[in-house]
Amino acid sequence: MGEPGRDLVRKAPMAIRTKYDAVIVGSGPNGLAAALTIAQKKRSVLVLEEKATLGGGTRTQELTLPGFRHDVCSAIHPLALASPFFRSVDLSDRGLEWIHSPVPLAHPLDNEGAVLLDRSINATAEGLGTDSRRYHKLYSSLLKDWRKLVDDLLKPLGVPKHPLALMRFGPKAIQSAKHLALGKFKTRRAQALFAGNAAHSILPLEHWSSAAFGLLLPTLGHAVGWPMARGGSQAIADSMANLLESLGCEMNLGKTVSSLNDLPDARAILFDVTPRQLARIAGSKLPSSYQKRLISHIHGPGVFKMDWALAGPIPWKDPACYLAGTLHIGGSLEEIARAEGDVGKGIIPEKPFVLLSQPSLFDPSRAPEGMQTAWAYCHVPNGCPLDMSNAIEDQIERFAPGFRDSILSRHSMSTKDMESYNPNYVGGDIAGGSQSFEQIFIRPLGRWQPYSTPVKGIYICSSSMPPGAGVHGMCGHLAAKRALRDVL
Ligand SMILES: Cc1cc2nc3c(=O)[nH]c(=O)nc-3n(C[C@H](O)[C@H](O)[C@H](O)COP(=O)(O)OP(=O)(O)OC[C@H]3O[C@@H](n4cnc5c(N)ncnc54)[C@H](O)[C@@H]3O)c2cc1C
Repeated sequence: MGEPGRDLVRKAPMAIRTKYDAVIVGSGPNGLAAALTIAQKKRSVLVLEEKATLGGGTRTQELTLPGFRHDVCSAIHPLALASPFFRSVDLSDRGLEWIHSPVPLAHPLDNEGAVLLDRSINATAEGLGTDSRRYHKLYSSLLKDWRKLVDDLLKPLGVPKHPLALMRFGPKAIQSAKHLALGKFKTRRAQALFAGNAAHSILPLEHWSSAAFGLLLPTLGHAVGWPMARGGSQAIADSMANLLESLGCEMNLGKTVSSLNDLPDARAILFDVTPRQLARIAGSKLPSSYQKRLISHIHGPGVFKMDWALAGPIPWKDPACYLAGTLHIGGSLEEIARAEGDVGKGIIPEKPFVLLSQPSLFDPSRAPEGMQTAWAYCHVPNGCPLDMSNAIEDQIERFAPGFRDSILSRHSMSTKDMESYNPNYVGGDIAGGSQSFEQIFIRPLGRWQPYSTPVKGIYICSSSMPPGAGVHGMCGHLAAKRALRDVL
């Protein structure tokens, strides 16, 4: 089987004009969302991408053995389903199909059954013993207006459109995850469930605002689920590219943009790159004070990523784990807090918090018949050179003894490999910068309009900008709307 996306490489027309309304540098979900937002307004668009395939963080490749298709980066997509941008485009007739596992998330614990995040808030609450009513109360208040909440969260800080929905979230979300979990919940099951979700912030759980993901992700689990794309995340990029082609957008793959001189004439240039890369590419065209701000953009911890080709399903001790597309592997709140706290201090965690997905259980197209794939990563200090394979596999063995015996082949990516794979992952940071509230929302490059730069017609549209990391396309969509208002 060829590398997914290769058909597109053959089909994608090379740039044929010398002048465009807009040029997009980078074809991650934000670059493609920016391109779609502009192309839908009947403006001419060129996408330039340095890799031979489209998709940035949404590529799928045979990383281990022939026939085993692995998501190189993103795998699970509650944010895409909830995103106002993705809700506004129909990609279902372009080849994108979402698959839901029976249960979005399992969180195995030692010596007791796994905690399950079910689609149903009632079923989830029932699994939390004496915390059942407290869980229900907390999340039902967010669930009832989840669309309004997401509309206000997936945009830069500003006057909220739905202040009541945001009021129910904001005061809790700015707390530290540890404070909120220990204050709200009495059982180790509910505390662990909250901690695992909060750890998606890639912040120490004592950091203020680390509670936000602990509130948002379960809410989305109940509202829209945590789906995966049939055939792999590449289907997200390919379906967006298919729609773009139908709108006449041109795509030039294998084209690294190193300087503004590499670009054809355009009224707007939107960069799906990190601030540091923009500083290098645009150089002295940018005022030096702004260049300094770009260079001082703070990057967060890195990740160590693994993929496996497996002879069969992971031998979970608790069979309930077979129902879940995603697993949070790290034990109790205290253990997860220790691991993420170590990462925050620049220490390599002995027992890392591992995020794992097992897509082939629900999407047989990912592996040859009877065999399976698995995907996992853990957080490590930025630039960490260490091989975390053993530490990750030890954590999985803890809840699935015999896991190693089922491995046919493994593929690992250190922080350095992540950055060589995609220059946006500076030091292995997959979030485009530290996800602290102050960096994402309060002072993104010190500008009221976060996507525009001091140079007319140059914009930054990557996940380094609000609303931050994840496959939601909103950084690209909102940057494109800004460009349409300003210059297109
Ligand atoms: C291991 C991992 C797991 C993840 N899991 C999830 C998940 O399950 N769910 C989720 O929602 N999100 C997940 N994410 C995050 C998600 O993938 C990113 O937030 C998202 O891809 C960011 O999109 P983007 O368009 O801003 O940038 P990217 O997706 O990084 O795309 C940037 C593109 O620009 C190109 N580029 C960069 N510089 C240049 C240049 N100079 N010239 C030309 N092209 C250039 C790159 O090659 C790349 O294709 C994960 C990420 C990683 C790495």
